[in-house]
Order: sequence, then C-alpha cells, then structure tokens
Amino acid sequence: MKPIPYARQEIDDYDIASVIETLKSDFLTQGPQPVLFEKNISEYCGANFGVSFNSATSALHAACLALSIGENDYVWTSPNTFVASSNCALYCGAKVDFVDIDQATYNISIEKLEEKLSSAKKENKLPKVVIAVHFAGQSCDMEAIFLLSQKYGFKLIEDASHAIGGKYKEKRIGNCSFSDITIFSFHPVKIITTGEGGMAVTNQKFLADHMIKIRSHGIAYEINNNVDQSKDEIWNYHQISLGFNYRMTDIQAALGVSQFRKIDEFLLKRHSIAKKYDNELKGLPVTIPFQDLDCYSSFHLYVVRLKLNEIKKSQKEIYNSLKHMGINVNLHYIPVYLHPYYQSLGFKRGLCPESELYFKEAISLPMFSGLSTKKQDYVIESIKSIIT
Ligand SMILES: *Cc1c(COP(=O)(O)O)cnc(C)c1O
Repeated sequence: MKPIPYARQEIDDYDIASVIETLKSDFLTQGPQPVLFEKNISEYCGANFGVSFNSATSALHAACLALSIGENDYVWTSPNTFVASSNCALYCGAKVDFVDIDQATYNISIEKLEEKLSSAKKENKLPKVVIAVHFAGQSCDMEAIFLLSQKYGFKLIEDASHAIGGKYKEKRIGNCSFSDITIFSFHPVKIITTGEGGMAVTNQKFLADHMIKIRSHGIAYEINNNVDQSKDEIWNYHQISLGFNYRMTDIQAALGVSQFRKIDEFLLKRHSIAKKYDNELKGLPVTIPFQDLDCYSSFHLYVVRLKLNEIKKSQKEIYNSLKHMGINVNLHYIPVYLHPYYQSLGFKRGLCPESELYFKEAISLPMFSGLSTKKQDYVIESIKSIIT
C-alpha cells in the first residue's frame, strides 16, 4: 500500500481535458485563462480585483512591494506559518518580527499583538505592514486586527494560502473589508491547485495595477500614458519600475478554472472528514482543533495537539510509529524564527513561547478531499493504537 500523505491534489478527467484544450490553443501564457481564473476567484471572494501569480510566494512579494515595503521598514507576522509569509518582507530588504499565537486558534494572538504594538510605539519601531496568516484555513480575528491597524497606522495583508473558501463573520475570506490585500496559494497540497500558483485579491485599483506591473518586469502597456505620440513612437510599452516575471501560465490557469468549479464540493468533503476526526478522537489524549463561531474554516489542515504527559510517548515516537504504519503525518509549523537562516539573523529561542510549546505537541493528520472513508478509518485506528 502507498503511504497516505497528509495532503494531496484531487484531479479528475475534466481538469485533464481543460489543460489539454489549452495546450492545443494559441496561448500557453498571457492568454485568456489567467484572466478568467482571476475573475472566478475575485467574484467568489467578493473582491474587486484578482491578480494571478506563479506562486503565493511571488504574490506575497508583489503585495509587499505594492505597499512600498523597503529597507528600514518593519513587517510582522505569526511564527506559526510557512517561511514564505516572512521571507516576502526580507526580499524587500525590510526587517521582520514575530507575534506569538493564540492558545486556542494557533493564529496570531490579538492580545500579544496589542502589547507589542504599544511597546513598539514607544521605541518608534511600529510595523508598516502586518501579515495575518489564517492558519489551517480558519480566519484570524480580522476586525480586531483592523481596528489596531487604524490605531497604529499599519497596512494589512492576509496570507490566506490555507483559507480559500473559508468565511469570517459570514463573508468569504478575500473580500478584503478588513485588509488591503489577501493572498491565496494553489500549491497541490492546498484546497484547489494549479500545480504552482497564487493570487492576490484587493479592492484597491492602485494596488492591483501596481501588482500587475511588478508581475511582468515593471512594464506598463498603456499606450496613452507612456508613449509620446508626438514623437511617432510605434512601440506600446515601457519599463517604468524594476519588476519580475511572476506570471501564471494559461496551462496552470486552465487547471485552476476547472478546479474552481469543484471548490465548494471539496470544502464539504473536508468538513465531513474533520467532523469524523472530531467525533472519533474526542475521548483520546489529544486536543482537537478549536472552531471559532465567527469562522467557517476551509480545513486545509487538521492539527491535533498531543497531551504528551498522558500519552507517555514522545512526539517523535508517535510520528515514527505513524510513518511506520504508512501514514505520512506532518508538522505545521516549526516557528519560522527557529529555522537556521532566521537564527543566523539573530532571532532567539524563547521569542514566542506559545508557538514553541505548540510546535512540540502538534501533528497534522491526513486531510484532503480525496481521503476515502476506509483510509480515514485506518488513520483513526492507527492513532488509537499508538496513543492509548
Ligand atoms: C503554501 C503557503 C505559502 C506559499 O505558497 P506557494 O504557492 O507554494 O508559494 C505561503 N504561506 C503559507 C501560509 C502557505 O501555507
């Protein structure tokens, strides 16, 4: 039997047919598919603009640049995330710092954020941007963070790489009522996939235009603005800033458009898997994921916390036993600042005690829309046999 992964894509014949159709079309890149995918996603979330990228990492970088992050700026995020959430600020030459997580949601803690803002203000080191990460697909308390952003004058990016399709206070994540830009990832482990791919959504035209330019070398195509008609210039583009090639191909977007049609079905499957885990694991020495009543999670991850003093086995032993049984569990996340690269930047152990404690007890169980009942039963039985 092949090992059961913690996450994987679900591709059907329609997805394959869509990609083949695009392969036979006139455009492999810079054609109609990314535009269509942008329209699908932005309308779904209720945002005015969608800008597709070749990854969420590129989208995060472009978002930071569009919010004019540069040297001497501070960007804050949660340590319980993938490294890309803070690397994007380092690409811009900014300094990053981390705010500890909430004990229940594992998202950024509002109390810790408030405390840190208040002391940063005294030292004149307030962040220019805070990147709120919706861990496992459950939204941060965006209204509270938004109020702090008004009080302390910072901009907000939502890293919703886990969270497409999730809701906060009845509205889809990505509607940007409490942020400037929201980012999605379409890596194969996420809710829907384009192979590699990402998207930024925003309600601000200026930011969308800026990100479009960054995505394609810093080149602008508006004939009227940039070509001096009096000089008989026949070309219609100018590079006006230093950009990148961060474009999503039509091949990727065709897959995205096809996957998008199934997003709600995928979300329902994830919810029923989560419910089954909740019911089966409730009585065991683990903490099941806390669900905030203000949120509808997209359940990218299903993380349990091991009550190690009751289990009397180490986290590593439990991991290894599960791997042995053909279950490739994972750990989300090593606190970002504990990675060797971040240690070399001078971050010290102990910076975010709650994140460090969480990291020693967390385990991500297999969670993906294609996980069969039979396989999930096997996962549940295996865990039971190891921890009881
Ligand atoms: C997956 C992920 C990213 C990066 O996404 P890519 O599309 O692989 O670049 C960024 N942030 C978080 C929280 C993620 O989980």
